[in-house]
Formats: sequence, structure tokens, C-alpha cells
Amino acid sequence: MPGPARLDVRIKQVKIGLINIGNELLNGQTLNSHHQWIARESTLHGWVIDHQQTIMDTAEAILTSLESTLNQYQLVITTGGLGPTSDDITRDVVARFFNMELEPDPVVETSIREYFSRRQRPMPESVLIQAQVPVGAEVFINRNGTAPGLALRHPKINSWLVMLPGPPRELHPMFRDQVVPFLQKVMPSGSGYVCRVLRTVGVGESRVQEQIEGKLADLISHGLEIGYCARTGEVDVRLATRDSAGSAIVDQAVARVHEIIGPAVFAEGEVSLERAVVEMLIRNGATVSTAESCTGGFLANRLTNVPGASDVFLGGAVTYSNKEKIRQLGVSSEDLETHGAVSETVARQMAEGVRRATGSDYGLSTTGIAGPSGGTDEKPVGLVFMAVAGPDGTEVFHRINTFDRETFKFVTTQQVLDCLRLMVVNAVSG
Ligand code: ATP
Ligand code: MG
Repeated sequence: MPGPARLDVRIKQVKIGLINIGNELLNGQTLNSHHQWIARESTLHGWVIDHQQTIMDTAEAILTSLESTLNQYQLVITTGGLGPTSDDITRDVVARFFNMELEPDPVVETSIREYFSRRQRPMPESVLIQAQVPVGAEVFINRNGTAPGLALRHPKINSWLVMLPGPPRELHPMFRDQVVPFLQKVMPSGSGYVCRVLRTVGVGESRVQEQIEGKLADLISHGLEIGYCARTGEVDVRLATRDSAGSAIVDQAVARVHEIIGPAVFAEGEVSLERAVVEMLIRNGATVSTAESCTGGFLANRLTNVPGASDVFLGGAVTYSNKEKIRQLGVSSEDLETHGAVSETVARQMAEGVRRATGSDYGLSTTGIAGPSGGTDEKPVGLVFMAVAGPDGTEVFHRINTFDRETFKFVTTQQVLDCLRLMVVNAVSG
């Protein structure tokens, strides 16, 4: 696509002013996760957070902020202060600023009453104040709480104001399921944006870039944008274009990335590694069990965080002591004596032992030295052996994961889950 046409699309890009309201965000009590989360979600739709403010929940602060941002931005999003308590004043202040009356909305009132009756909890009358909405506002019903989200168009300035509740578990689904479709309808200018995110595991950020970027050069010259986001043990590759005719370019880029680093890509979009693994096992009708030492049950925890895990996860043992490794998994006491608990032999016996004990198709094990103490020259802190026992044999490997104990557990479970994933992929393709 020639330069000027792309420039034109950029000019039409939706820019957002974000206002996060709440004293708790300023006094250090709560981390402002909405800034990151909304920015990340917006990016997926080609909208840009151009300005962000965190403010106290006072009428003065809210009015000052609304005045400046609504004049500057076509879309302003506020978070927080929509609840029923006396410190929740966003709705009132906005109605005042917009010169609008608040009126009870029967649909919101019903949804609030239902929220309490579903939980079989008595409803304090005071919560019904949240059913008061500015006349003419677009209402986003809160399926995970009581305060609805609201959208208003300022009659004079013509900018949109979207107000969202503070609790993340209320805001996230509301934003995705209701706010995004609404904004796509009322502000179609951002709709040329196409974005797909591939999630990879086991390869470092620079290595991912090194391998793919050269091979996408022709697509980049046609408007493909590439972004990387590295997290512990994972790298996201974001492939996007701002050109409405660009979805073919993005599709082509996705296909090429699969060709180049295929095995490292475990999912597309917001899918965790454990979810990708559980879904893969479900698709293949295979089951898994776990034998954990140094990860203390974290592997079983991750697997059981995924809906549908009961179809594939048979059970897990946390065998922290040698005695339990022998008793529950049938690990040989001589081998424990000779090789030590942190060894290839013991990792193998743990995985095979749990597979045998539960009758699962795959058995996973972890045994290592999380630290900070307990290391030797031969077996340093961070050393961990992992094994995956499957129908075609057992794969044992080791890594040196020198992190704090929690990160150690995350990274280690990441590696063993990935080993399982690759074993299943190979079993299916081979
Ligand atoms: P509620 O009905 O729960 O009162 P609300 O819309 O009034 O919702 P707030 O009272 O501002 O929202 O915040 C409720 C809770 O949501 C806070 O205690 C905090 O834990 C969380 N929260 C609010 N804003 C943020 C934010 N920006 N980032 C992360 N968490 C937040
Ligand atoms: Mg509140």
C-alpha cells in the first residue's frame, strides 16, 4: 500500500483519553491494572491510549479531568467510582457535567435484584442507587457485579464518554463483550485495523524476531506491523495492519510464522499454555497425571485452572520427601541414595510411577532445587529435572532456572507443560 493512503488511515485512528479514578490507586493500596489491561485490549482493535490520568475520587478532580480530556479526545474512558458507596461519585459528577438527569432504569434494577437472588443473599436497598442512570445513556449490564457501565455522547463536544466499574472481574468481560462491539458501531473509524496475536513458548524474544522478521520483509513493506511482548517463558508476536484491505497480509504473515517457528507457537489470542495443553488433550482423548516435588502442586493447580480439566487430569501427587516419592510413586530407594532426589533417574521414575498409578496416558514430573539454599557445585540452585512419560516412552530433561521460588515454579511448570505439548503434537503428526 502506498504511503499516503496509510497515512490517511492513521489520521482517522481512534485516540483515547483514559481516566482511572480512585484514591486507592494513588495511595499505593491497589495497582492500577486497568491502565495496562485497557491499553492492551484497545491495541487489538487499533485504538490508541494517547493520554492516561489517575485521579482522586473527588468531584473537583473528576470535573477538571473530564473538562480537559473530553475536549481533546473523541473517546474518554473512566474506570471506578460507579458503586453504591458514598465514595462512588463518578455517575453523579458526570450527570452534572453533562447536564443530564438521573432516572431509574428498570432493566438495570432487575439485573441488580437478580444478581442478589442468584447468590441467595439479601439485597441492601442502597445498592439500587446504581440503577439510576443518565437519561439517554447506553447501558452495559454488569453480569459479574451490580454497577452498570455507561456510555454518553456529549451533546456539544460530540465526544463519547464510557464509564466502567472498578473491579477487574466486572470490567474485563464488560469491556470485551459489550463495550468493544458498541464502540465499533459508533466509531467505525478504527475498523480498518486487523490484528492477530500468536503466542510462543520456549524461544527468547530476540531469537523469535531474528527468525521471522527477515522473512516477513515484503509484507512489512506492504503495511504489516510486527510487535513483540515477552513475558516469563513466553513471547507474543503481534501481527497487524491498519489498512482495511490488510487482513490478507496479516493472514499471510500468520501462515509464514507458523512455517518458520511452528512448534513454538502454542496458541492464537488470549490463551494460556495450560489451556492450550488441556484443550489439546481433550481433542486427542488423552489423560494426564502429575508427580511434583519442587513445584509443590503448582503444575496441578495450573492444569485445574482450565475449564474442562476434569476430562483429562486424573490426579497429582505432591511428593516433597524421599519417603513419599518411594511410597506414592514407587521410586527406588537405592536410586534415590545413589543419584539423589534431583536427578534424571528419579524424575523418570516419578513420571512413570504416577502414570502407572493413575493409568493416565501421560505422567509429568518435576524435581529440583528451588533455592535460595541447598545448591552444590555439582547441583546448583535452580537445577531441575523434569520428565514426561507417555505411550511411546519417557522424555527426561533438565534446566537451570535461577529465579525466586515463585518464578521458579512458574518457569518449571511452563517447561514441563511445553514438553508434554510437543510430545502430543509429535504423537499426532507422527
Ligand atoms: P464497586 O461497586 O465495587 O464499588 P466501583 O465501580 O465503585 O465498584 P471502585 O469503588 O472505584 O469501583 O473500585 C472497586 C475495586 O475495584 C477497588 O477496591 C479495587 O480493588 C478495584 N479497582 C478499581 N480501580 C482499579 C484499577 N484501576 N486497577 C485495578 N483494580 C481497580
Ligand atoms: Mg466503589
